[in-house]
Amino acid sequence: MADRYAVIGHPVAHSKSPWIHAAFARQTGQDLDYGCIEAPIEGFARAVDEFRAAGGRGANVTLPFKEQAFSYCGGEASARARAAAAVNTLRFEGASVYGDNTDGVGLVIDLERNLGRAIAGKRLLLMGAGGAARGVLQPLLQRGPAVLRIANRTARRAEALARLFQDVKGGGFDDLAGGSYDLLINATSAGLANEAPPLPGGIFAPGAFAYDMVYGRDTPFLAQARDAGAATSDGLGMLVEQAAESFQLWRGKRPDTAPVLAALRGR
Ligand code: NAP
Repeated sequence: MADRYAVIGHPVAHSKSPWIHAAFARQTGQDLDYGCIEAPIEGFARAVDEFRAAGGRGANVTLPFKEQAFSYCGGEASARARAAAAVNTLRFEGASVYGDNTDGVGLVIDLERNLGRAIAGKRLLLMGAGGAARGVLQPLLQRGPAVLRIANRTARRAEALARLFQDVKGGGFDDLAGGSYDLLINATSAGLANEAPPLPGGIFAPGAFAYDMVYGRDTPFLAQARDAGAATSDGLGMLVEQAAESFQLWRGKRPDTAPVLAALRGR
């Protein structure tokens, strides 16, 4: 029987992860089965327990369970998952569970390798203070931006998140007036509601690059960035790269992401 994996979230039916992992499995000649599990909002741990009891070898975890997935690991997690206190990848071996967070490295690889955008030395604005923002902060800081600022609708969440890291400032969108940034990363879910974070004029520096983690749609944030003369990308590349990192953790092989990303863009 093929080894079983799944993405666990709520909602999860729209997820592209089963398609991506099936493509990785074909490419690397691995025999695995990857499905979707929609866990009840109050029933994450139970859904994971049931999947493990049924032979599950690993899982991706998505909204809104990444913090609960970190707790589920009981401390058995990578340094980057511990820094984020959020887990998007679980590996099961017998009675043991190991957690990792591949969102940050997925974003960094997409920006630097796929899109050819440097992070080092840039003035970086990260919008959002939820699980996604939390997961990417440490990997972004490790690339050496000149400035990293967090802005969030609920200012105190950004302030609390910023306090966990050295030299990071956090606050509300009102505090951004007068500043400008080279790299603007939208880690809010505003685009899903067809809304944009309320950014002041002049925030996009000349030559700026704007990235929205939301994928598969043109968001108001990306439209605003284009209007201001910035180059843009959605988060599809991050999705594929974080999946490749999870696949490597489970199977010991990193798939070639380029053909999978190209196929997904063409779908
Ligand atoms: P989350 O934990 O629910 O956090 C949502 C964040 O968005 C919070 O900071 C929230 O602000 C903010 N927000 C929501 N609606 C907003 C609005 N209308 N205007 C301004 N801010 C708003 O979600 P998450 O896990 O961090 O995920 C965020 C997004 O990233 C999702 O759309 C997800 O699909 C995407 N994502 C993509 C990838 C990828 O691989 N491409 C990976 C991870 C996540 P408050 O704190 O004020 O509520």
